[in-house]
Amino acid sequence: MRPELLNPLFAEVEALDGVGPKLKKPLTKLGLERARDVVFHLPERFVSRRAVANIDAAGEGEQIVVALTPVEHRASRNSRGPYRVLARDAAGNAIALTYFGRASYTAKKQLPVGAKRWVAGKLERYGDMLQIVHPDHVLEEGGASLEHLTEPVYRLSEGLTQPMVAKLVAQALERTPELPEWIEPGEVDREKWPSWRDAILLAHRGEHPAARDRLAYDEMLANSLALMLVRADNRRRQGTPLRGDGRLRAKLALPFPLTGAQQRSIAEIEGDLAQTAPMLRLLQGDVGAGKTVVALEAMLIAVEAGAQAALLAPTEILARQHFETLRRMAAPTGARVEILTGRDKGRAREAVLMGLLDGSVEILVGTHAIFQDQVAYRNLALVAIDEQHRFGVSQRLMLAGKGKRAPHVLAMTATPIPRTLQLAQYGELDVSKLDEMPPGRQPIDTRVVGIERMDEVVAGVARHLESGRQAYWVCPMVRDSEADDTAAAEARFAGLQQRFGADAVLVHGQLSPELKDAAMERFASGHAKLLVATTVIEVGVDVPGATLMVIEQAERFGLAQLHQLRGRVGRGAAKSVCLLLRSATLSETARERLALMRETQDGFRLAEEDLRLRGGGELLGTRQSGDTPFQIANIDQISRLLPIAYDDSRLLMERDGGLAGARGEAARLLLYLFERDFGVRTLRGG
Ligand code: ADP
Ligand code: MG
Repeated sequence: MRPELLNPLFAEVEALDGVGPKLKKPLTKLGLERARDVVFHLPERFVSRRAVANIDAAGEGEQIVVALTPVEHRASRNSRGPYRVLARDAAGNAIALTYFGRASYTAKKQLPVGAKRWVAGKLERYGDMLQIVHPDHVLEEGGASLEHLTEPVYRLSEGLTQPMVAKLVAQALERTPELPEWIEPGEVDREKWPSWRDAILLAHRGEHPAARDRLAYDEMLANSLALMLVRADNRRRQGTPLRGDGRLRAKLALPFPLTGAQQRSIAEIEGDLAQTAPMLRLLQGDVGAGKTVVALEAMLIAVEAGAQAALLAPTEILARQHFETLRRMAAPTGARVEILTGRDKGRAREAVLMGLLDGSVEILVGTHAIFQDQVAYRNLALVAIDEQHRFGVSQRLMLAGKGKRAPHVLAMTATPIPRTLQLAQYGELDVSKLDEMPPGRQPIDTRVVGIERMDEVVAGVARHLESGRQAYWVCPMVRDSEADDTAAAEARFAGLQQRFGADAVLVHGQLSPELKDAAMERFASGHAKLLVATTVIEVGVDVPGATLMVIEQAERFGLAQLHQLRGRVGRGAAKSVCLLLRSATLSETARERLALMRETQDGFRLAEEDLRLRGGGELLGTRQSGDTPFQIANIDQISRLLPIAYDDSRLLMERDGGLAGARGEAARLLLYLFERDFGVRTLRGG
């Protein structure tokens, strides 16, 4: 049970003044569902403004406060376009105040023609006009009070403004209780860190590196501690020792010999499975390294030993594909392979459920639906998790709780994780590495092409398809809204379809599952030649006949993600090409990143460089989700503080593994606060 002290922080955002159904949606989009989330929604940066008498005195990009008088309101002709208020400063210089979406209502109210107003915001140039987009403040008087005021700038979603978020934060902060200290006191002194509550207050008020560090440390401490508790619990639990006699594996007629790395990994797994302590092993191997076969061998060991095995995939598409592959490969062994996803209904589903219960289904492939309460296994002893990085730790644990005994867990990932992050994500898992590619793979010819050469690219795709080969065309997920991304992908698809007709199919996240499958199926079977998709194809999809990949706005993707995408081609013996389409203007970093993609195919190197190029320096910088388990801690803080947090957790575990003492109690609060309470649940009285 969550300690009562934390209840005010776990109240729904609706409990805050001014949050109704209308705000709920944009808040949810930012992940702000409870007061706690708002408290941890730390500013991205701070602004300090300068008051200027007229806009000549300010530079482009500068944050200013200036007195303006609106002269005209101009609505855009199309409904999605901007709403502009044209205004003049004291010297008569013209400027536009620009609003998008619903914000235009605010503009109408706040900026009547002819009435002088103090306007605060960032001065920008749009064509030959100066403008301020969505001014932060519009005041009737007292504009000078805005000068030099340090103000937080929060990440927003459509429908929110800075003042709205600031108001919510203020309310959430009022609810924030003082909490007992969970960090080792020596560490707090050494770093001169404020208390947790003070750190939160300071972090919203201005640039306080110590406060930020402390909060990041808290998060990392919670994570380390939770992983250690789980590990300790796992060691205490009993698994089923699985000793296969090799009879099924002998029948497996693979069309290729296993690589040395695959054999080594299988031997390591076999060793773990024979133990009573449940296996917790990470199988790390770059895209295309051949993890699926390793998982199959492991699952066959379980079946040989009279138990059941399950393979968990992150997406429906991937689950279907694994099902086909495993079923085909396992056919000679006679092992029964079935699939279960949220979409399988009716009689087929009942049959699978029965088979799981009576043990006749020996290998199950599926999405997380395979761990719902209604799904009961006779003897589930091994769970393999594909593309592990897509799942949170809590999901991994939820399934560890299935079965009477703890199942062995094999977590697979293609994401090469730099050492620092590995500690963060997995604690001290055992790791098997597939550091050797299957023979005969050709390097993927990667080229960076300017978007202005679109016509040539399309012509190239046409030649490629005419020669009987297949291709991917990836549209980026970049905007705030999935609907917008879908619209962009649909627009591109419409264009390509004109040229390629029924040879082209489209897959995106908002398509109904049936349509998605149908499109994937047409492509995988070779009936369709061009798959236009958003990043839903990122993980795992295996169509060896596809040897060309086009990635639009490649600069928008992280290197690791580009590497994953590119890994969809170059899977057979034929030569593959990857075209990275880039926008007309690129930052220096973006240029460097794309050059690196051209240069190397080493996923590990790309991951390290990605981390470096994104920079430890950007203290309050934007983050890419999914590559660390942290919301607050940035890369720099991870490398500086995670090892310390790790040692701190270890020490606490040694002294008070049951978290029963005073600091242990505080640590329990910490775990709840950061929603790592699955760690607490491994403890008695947790
Ligand atoms: P990933 O590690 O990305 O999951 P897959 O398991 O999908 O990779 O394997 C990629 C491709 O390589 C598949 O088509 C698979 O059949 C093939 N493959 C796997 N192991 C070998 C091997 N030892 N020799 C040749 N091809 C292999
Ligand atoms: Mg795979």
